[in-house]
Amino acid sequence: MGEFELIQRCFAEAGRKRTDVAIGIGDDGAVVQVRDGCDLVITTDSMVEGIHFFPDVDPRSLGHKLVAVNVSDLAAMGAEPCWLSLALTLPKVDEDWLVAFAEGLSETADYYNCQLIGGDTTRGPLSLTMIAKGLVPKGKAITRAGAQNGDYLYVTGTLGDAALGLQLVQNKVEISKKHRAHILQRFHYPTARVALGQALRNIASSAMDVSDGLAGDLPHILRRSKVGAVVDVSKLPMSQALKDSCSAEQALQYALSGGEDYELLFTVPENRRGSLEVLLSPYGVPVTCIGRITGAVGKLEFKQGELPFIYQHQGFEHF
Ligand SMILES: [Mg+2]
Repeated sequence: MGEFELIQRCFAEAGRKRTDVAIGIGDDGAVVQVRDGCDLVITTDSMVEGIHFFPDVDPRSLGHKLVAVNVSDLAAMGAEPCWLSLALTLPKVDEDWLVAFAEGLSETADYYNCQLIGGDTTRGPLSLTMIAKGLVPKGKAITRAGAQNGDYLYVTGTLGDAALGLQLVQNKVEISKKHRAHILQRFHYPTARVALGQALRNIASSAMDVSDGLAGDLPHILRRSKVGAVVDVSKLPMSQALKDSCSAEQALQYALSGGEDYELLFTVPENRRGSLEVLLSPYGVPVTCIGRITGAVGKLEFKQGELPFIYQHQGFEHF
């Protein structure tokens, strides 16, 4: 089998077969039927070897993660994931690697009810770029720009696990057997909060997903919404695995600045706060109030209970 056929075969059936795909892989372009009354939401995420993942990473988890991080951006907009495209740059065609990567991609696309509808392959240093497209009822996309003074600030799930996972795969920390699986799962197989994101359409005034760490990402909402925020670090939700695996100070550091948790960070106006817990309880994902939006434009303050908390963020900047 030639390289071209091999690649074609690996990705031909990736993901769920959707009835709204008129023309999928194999033509010059894909054709999809966009539902009436919906807006199309489009997002792109790239992963580059040596920057986003290590050369020895399990290709199956890489396929999973590429889909999950793209779908997470759709979730943050309140959109329903639908279609994926893939631009793949490979140094060589390694059949085992490709099959495992395609399987990880396919099972995760299937899980989120997405179909791979096209792509391109070129030769070069290993790099993966995905474009994810989703649908949201007209005018209902949740943006980063709607937070208002007085809104409550929430986050889903727990923070900091993926940052600890990154340390673990680099052999920089030791973790007890009991917690290893959970931490590695959170790092290699992140979950996009898709159902919850859609449930937030009529509740949240703004939202985003936490990919670069809370302290690095929250300022994006503050800038776009022209507001400030105060975060109580004693409220940050952390897993038992994280708390048991490092000092309280270190755990807090991971929760504040560690990337790749892919939880949702969102704001809720006071008058919708009462319905929040009831509406979100069926999703089985904990949501935690960690602070409030203020009128101090662009100012992000931290406190620890009633005490001020001094925190100097050193985030990761690509450029
Ligand atoms: Mg994002």
